Amino acid sequence: MNFEEGLKQNGLKITPQRVAILKEIQRRGHATIEEIYEDILKEYPSISLATIYKNIISLCEADLVKEVKVSLQKQRYEINCGEHAHIVCTECGKLEDIEFGMESFYHNAMITRYIQPSFVSMTIYGKCNQCLKE
Ligand SMILES: [Zn+2]
Ligand SMILES: [Zn+2]
Repeated sequence: MNFEEGLKQNGLKITPQRVAILKEIQRRGHATIEEIYEDILKEYPSISLATIYKNIISLCEADLVKEVKVSLQKQRYEINCGEHAHIVCTECGKLEDIEFGMESFYHNAMITRYIQPSFVSMTIYGKCNQCLKE
């Protein structure tokens, strides 16, 4: 994703901080606010956690960034790259993306519950390969 273009298209002002936040989230895949803060701080030593937070909220409102809520874990953020489910290891906390047939859920919800779905949030919990070996 071209972040400058993305910001412009979504009516947000292009600031170096916003671009840095987006790059950091993309680099990590799924990042907590503390992780983002830690890295942005290296580039912008005077930035506050509150500023980062405010920027992330705007990025979420503009649909460039999505919140990832996983039970028993800190809130994380990811670049909005289309819908997918998450797999989370209950041992080590590793979080990964997984493609899922969201369309069938939408279809099912519309046909059987007469709801117009706006999004699906799904997380699969279990032990990852690494933790199974140990
Ligand atoms: Zn694991
Ligand atoms: Zn994800």
